[in-house]
Amino acid sequence: MTARIIDGKQVAAEIRAELKEEIARLKTRGIVPGLGVILVGDDPASRSYVTGKERACEEIGIYSDDNRLPAKTSQDELIALVKRMNANPRIHGILVQLPLPRHLNESEVLLAIHPDKDADGLHPVNIGRMVTGEKAILSCTPHGVLQLLVRSGVAIDGAHAVIVGRSNLVGKPLANMLIQKSPTGNATVTVCHTRTKNLAQYTRQADILIAAIGRPGTITADMVKDGAVVIDVGVSRVDDATKKAGYRLVGDVDFDAVKEKASLITPVPGGVGPMTITMLLYNTVASAKRAAGLDW
Ligand code: NAP
Repeated sequence: MTARIIDGKQVAAEIRAELKEEIARLKTRGIVPGLGVILVGDDPASRSYVTGKERACEEIGIYSDDNRLPAKTSQDELIALVKRMNANPRIHGILVQLPLPRHLNESEVLLAIHPDKDADGLHPVNIGRMVTGEKAILSCTPHGVLQLLVRSGVAIDGAHAVIVGRSNLVGKPLANMLIQKSPTGNATVTVCHTRTKNLAQYTRQADILIAAIGRPGTITADMVKDGAVVIDVGVSRVDDATKKAGYRLVGDVDFDAVKEKASLITPVPGGVGPMTITMLLYNTVASAKRAAGLDW
């Protein structure tokens, strides 16, 4: 079997088009979703992520409040800015680009964001709401994975989903989303990590296999069941002299071999990656609707 490729760029474009229409409707009611963006320091990768996020906002009509602060910004100054954004009715989502310079306490800054303006969906209040099945702002990357599955017509209900990776950013929230008693949940979930004995024994049982590891080539074809759906969250740089940048991006899955066994598979790049920013936009629009007392 040769797998159908899940085109993350296309799914992301579909969702952004839906959001653009929704924003146009909201604007007729005087509601303009706003994202407050904070970048501290001048790390080139962070700068380019933030620029990409601001451009994505502009393309669909989200107002973005861009705050680029010097690397020497103090903890108090940063928290004061977050608090001003919490109180600013034009801002519905707040994004603090990570990592922060070493002298700043990241978790304290993230906790200062009001949970209803937590565009990344990483605030413990939102994680708690998600785990208990309440309506919550969902973390962007795992929500992006869920949307890729749903919009590709994958049957999640009753499937055995095996997630390799248990980070707070991806593995743990995704496991919780997939076990929810909900139309996009009801999977049986196994979560694997570095202390899992005989990883392949678990991955071979997966109807849906999700790799969120950060180690190129960890998932080989012999670890995958025939016809499985394979989602590769991993992104690593490997040296490649044939590329202008001197490197290329690869996932955790041995794509060329695994695509011959899977029924559906995401590429890297162009799979999960484009979904992450899209779900950030989604969260900003959802928060704007909630702030206006609308269904979100
Ligand atoms: P992380 O915090 O480093 O977590 C990696 C997880 O993989 C850990 O739970 C670790 O187990 C597990 N692991 C590592 N090696 C393993 C092995 N050989 N066998 C089994 N489990 C193993 O990373 P993360 O933040 O979750 O990110 C994972 C990958 O996704 C990275 O490549 C990251 O760049 C990528 N990512 C992509 C996006 C996107 O938008 N496309 C977003 C977020 C992350 P232990 O817990 O036991 O250490």
